[in-house]
Amino acid sequence: MTRAAGQAATGLTAGRAGASRDAGRAATDLVAGLDIGGTKMAAALVDRSGTVMATATRPTPATAGRDAILTAAADLLRTLSGNEAIAAVGVGAAGVVDQRRGVVVSATQALAGWAGTDLRGELSRRLALPVAVDNDVHAHALGEQWRGAAAGYADVLLIAIGTGIGASMILDGRVRHGAHAVAGHAGHVPVASAAGLACPCGGRGHVEAVASGPALLAQYRNRSGTDVDHLAEVARLAAAGDPVAIAVLAEGGTAAGQAIGGLMNVIDPEIVVIGGGVPGCGEPWWRPLRAAVRAETLPALRDVPVVPATLGADAALLGAARLAFTLLDHQEALTKEDL
Ligand SMILES: [Zn+2]
Repeated sequence: MTRAAGQAATGLTAGRAGASRDAGRAATDLVAGLDIGGTKMAAALVDRSGTVMATATRPTPATAGRDAILTAAADLLRTLSGNEAIAAVGVGAAGVVDQRRGVVVSATQALAGWAGTDLRGELSRRLALPVAVDNDVHAHALGEQWRGAAAGYADVLLIAIGTGIGASMILDGRVRHGAHAVAGHAGHVPVASAAGLACPCGGRGHVEAVASGPALLAQYRNRSGTDVDHLAEVARLAAAGDPVAIAVLAEGGTAAGQAIGGLMNVIDPEIVVIGGGVPGCGEPWWRPLRAAVRAETLPALRDVPVVPATLGADAALLGAARLAFTLLDHQEALTKEDL
């Protein structure tokens, strides 16, 4: 446990799953998944079966600029891997990510100087390893499809509802990125109850303006006149019968369900998985969401399961690791073609 103690001293937190370390394992059997968020970055060592062997987290130096974030990420991965040989790194990063070029196209205000970062090139240079990158919501979806709620499904719509609202479409087993790497921005679908309201994207009338976690919390504060500071408290109040809390969660769930139902009609998924913090509000949110989905979807889609994500924070790490394995498999296939 000496490494864990050292990490505690430097502000890192680490945990080991206690899985056996197979000394005979091939080097390509272990990769690292990295999740870079606006406040925190997390990393995991993952094997081919999708087992998380070790994890570590540290704060993201969000205001210190691009180099500081990249250096912190590389340090976290070096500390995590220790003496283990890892074959590649997969990264899920906040913002719009062009996965073909490995570049962050645009980012939230929270990450200073992050837009334009050659994430793949810079991390690969620092670590001397192959690196694959994608947006964090796509990584989340890949993780749930590998080992979580969508395991075994080829056509998956994942919606993440938290601080913002994002989505990822996996069709025929592949994440769809669109022509500008923007596919999946489900928070910016119009819904009637958001009409005229400002959205964080700069537009108006989008579902994120009424159904995100901060939107629900603001609604409750406005209507109740109380200074509740966390959505979990609104959920607790709703469970206890508070009529304002019940109404706010119902309206948020209904708006999200309308947007999701509309998307289902376009995408035709086998399963819809909902992750992020807001689904933790429980049945006062889920019941109206399911009713709205049912009201919006075409008859052929009435039996499509709409279920909670099951992997929590591990989903993005597992999905990032899967990106790394996919990269390795492509490289191997190309090498074989050359022979
Ligand atoms: Zn918007």
